[in-house]
Amino acid sequence: MTYENSLVFARACDQNDTLRTFRDQFYIPQVNGKDAIYLCGNSLGLQPRTVRAALEQELLDWQNLGVEGHFHGQNPWFKYHELFSEKEARLVGAKPGEVIVMNNLTTNLHLMLVSFYQPTPQRYRIITEFGAFPSDQYALETQVKFHGYSPDEAIIELKPRPGECNLRTADMEAVIAANADSLALVLLGGVNYYTGQVFDLAAITKAGHAAGARVGFDLAHAAGNVVLQLHDWEIDFAVWCTYKYLNSGPGGVGAAFVHEKHANNPELPRFAGWWGHNQEERFQMKKGFLPMVGAAGWQLSNSAILTMAAHKAALDIFDEAGMPALRHKSEQLTGYLEYLIRDLHLPETSLQIITPADPTARGCQLSLLIHQNGRALFENLTAAGVILDWREPNVIRVAPAPLYNSFEDVFCFAEILRKSWEVVNK
Ligand SMILES: *Cc1c(COP(=O)(O)O)cnc(C)c1O
Repeated sequence: MTYENSLVFARACDQNDTLRTFRDQFYIPQVNGKDAIYLCGNSLGLQPRTVRAALEQELLDWQNLGVEGHFHGQNPWFKYHELFSEKEARLVGAKPGEVIVMNNLTTNLHLMLVSFYQPTPQRYRIITEFGAFPSDQYALETQVKFHGYSPDEAIIELKPRPGECNLRTADMEAVIAANADSLALVLLGGVNYYTGQVFDLAAITKAGHAAGARVGFDLAHAAGNVVLQLHDWEIDFAVWCTYKYLNSGPGGVGAAFVHEKHANNPELPRFAGWWGHNQEERFQMKKGFLPMVGAAGWQLSNSAILTMAAHKAALDIFDEAGMPALRHKSEQLTGYLEYLIRDLHLPETSLQIITPADPTARGCQLSLLIHQNGRALFENLTAAGVILDWREPNVIRVAPAPLYNSFEDVFCFAEILRKSWEVVNK
């Protein structure tokens, strides 16, 4: 696509955008009495207009039926998780039985680690990315300690080469192969939250398995952002949240993927609860845990219906738009953002894009490393009605979400960035 730096061009792109009406299905936050330029969907997605009615439906069933809502509600609560199987699976390239909507991301990560990180004195190491999201770091650190190993000994962090911002797949594969004797697990983000780099999940999974390890991913920034084929790539497990690109509300319900090959493996240790027990006899309250087949067998508690209702409404919209169309628009939108930022002609020593330039190695997000007056610039942008995300010590993350952001949003952002830069650096 050949881009132009003009409002006319941006508006023409919006006219040609087959997804343009989806924006109307969301509430756009207001700043100074007008629509904000919201480029923060990687942190908290916007509220779909349909969420309120979805919540009201469940509140009404609770109001009118009380406990009977479990079986006689419009969406019976006892099997509410089944409402997601098809669409959640489509979203991440899985089979319906391989996905389950439950708990929150970090909780699910721990549950998956209980099953898929079983260190032995010979095989106890974990490979992860340097600077992973803190929750992932803490989960790995405490799991390693829980098993009696030392995090410094057991956790290997993949770092970019000196002077580079991103990891090279070949380097990642080499570290995995070099640790084949002691490696128990590879656990990475699907997309690094800080740089926005998309990892080659298929290649890493292959390398991990060749080294005799299990491979899992935290897809917080990947689900709803990039096209995933978790089943075909033979990933062992994955977890994600639904409040970022999936727009399901603050602290919304999480999700997990367990590959079919582990669906019915009684050897896998797990922490169980009654909701993962064979659904046929769940209410017989019998002794002896018999897991449901597939990812559903990892459920612990009865479903958090109110947060799941929000996710149901949001996922319906997502599924209607479809990941392939969203990804197509996303590449153009992020490409336009990159073009406009480069067209400001700021030297790399002032503003540096640390997200890969290769469109296949990035999603919706560009991370801008600001070498001078970064925080002041961020505050100036915010005051001008742009909602972005600041990461210490000096990164601004800009994420145009293809479901509700327009080319005009991106154009206006770049205009405001130019003005703010002049004000802050004059
Ligand atoms: C957002 C995010 C989380 C958040 O975890 P919660 O359990 O949902 O609070 C975890 N990991 C990554 C990589 C994230 O981007």
